[in-house]
Amino acid sequence: MTNCPICNGTIERTIKLIEYKYKGHTRNIKQVGDYCIKCGESFLTPKDLKSTQKEIVNFKREIDHLLTTEELKRIRKKSHLTQEEASNIFGGGVRAFHKYENAEINQSKPLDILFRLIDLKKITVDDIKQVSI
Ligand SMILES: [Zn+2]
Repeated sequence: MTNCPICNGTIERTIKLIEYKYKGHTRNIKQVGDYCIKCGESFLTPKDLKSTQKEIVNFKREIDHLLTTEELKRIRKKSHLTQEEASNIFGGGVRAFHKYENAEINQSKPLDILFRLIDLKKITVDDIKQVSI
């Protein structure tokens, strides 16, 4: 892409601060992409969007009081579980934890609560295995 299809201005590959709003909260997120220097229109490829997906999802999770991708990963690793093992115990399909930790889908609230209880040492993975498998 060389010129803007809207105003014929010059397209430039750069990083812009984009303001995201969610439930009354605002966060500025750096978004790489092609931008028209004349009208400001953005042209984002799926790869450009993918580069900010985790940050946007974690912003929303923080507001919805859900564990972020990194928090989930930390607690899973602390529990000595692989993504596959965690998915077997907690359900959601074999790739469930891969998806939660890569911000593809959100974990359910009940799973989130269980993970917080594990993190607080209120319950152990063995407790869960006893009733789950
Ligand atoms: Zn333009």
